[in-house]
Amino acid sequence: MTVALVGAGPGDPDLLTIKAARLLASADVVVHDALVGDGVLALIPATAERIDVGKRPGRPTPQEMISALLVELGRQGKRVVRLKGGDPFVFGRGGEEAAALAEAGVAFEVVPGITSSVAAPAAAGIPVTHRGVSAAFTVVTGHRRPGEPDVDWRSLAAVGGTIVVLMGVAQRAGIATELIAGGLSPTTPVAAIQSATTDAQLVDRCTLGELGDIDVDSPAVIVIGAVAAFEFVRALTPVAARTDLVIGDQR
Ligand code: SAH
Repeated sequence: MTVALVGAGPGDPDLLTIKAARLLASADVVVHDALVGDGVLALIPATAERIDVGKRPGRPTPQEMISALLVELGRQGKRVVRLKGGDPFVFGRGGEEAAALAEAGVAFEVVPGITSSVAAPAAAGIPVTHRGVSAAFTVVTGHRRPGEPDVDWRSLAAVGGTIVVLMGVAQRAGIATELIAGGLSPTTPVAAIQSATTDAQLVDRCTLGELGDIDVDSPAVIVIGAVAAFEFVRALTPVAARTDLVIGDQR
């Protein structure tokens, strides 16, 4: 195998898969994103070349350039690890890179990672499903991209279960407004988990009606639904952070 599209997990290096750690240890070159945690980057051997293609404001690497780079490195026969935050196929644009490699005839494999969509809630003590409370969870992007269909938030409100929003920090007020317009109660519990599983982790809890007003920075996962009031971290029984929150099935 020449190129491996590898999920780096949410941040904590202990949450890497054994396969990811093994591939990193023997990599010739590691191409990584901005979201990959420092603890994981520290595992890259000193002998491996390290290429940061993190898309940060003012210094973006277009997706086509990243795909072309992977094809080029793969053709050189190098052991390439393309390291992505969380899981490579969950909003990681791993599919586009896989398509480019397949088209170029470069051998590759995909190594799943623990996605922040479940790891961040878990780090806050929130089960995304819970018997009798939430029978489904929907993972959705809050980021609007030109040319892509918008998420139908009002229909999503009717689905029930837990809503997990990635890349939703900037749009959080509008998302809350749409979900409330779709029928969710403004008192629906919400948790925002920032920099989950890292030393910088912050958990904020509020109601859907308050979501636009809380302080939260990217990267954060926003959990919306009754389970967001749970905190199976310090306590053994569900703890409602607020007494005015709606606990239980809301539909
Ligand atoms: N492939 C990644 C998601 C990439 S999209 C995965 O499976 O997790 C980037 C978004 O992921 C961020 O905007 C944020 O919503 C979320 N995210 C990734 N890592 C995170 C972390 N450690 N803490 C909180 N949110 C995180």
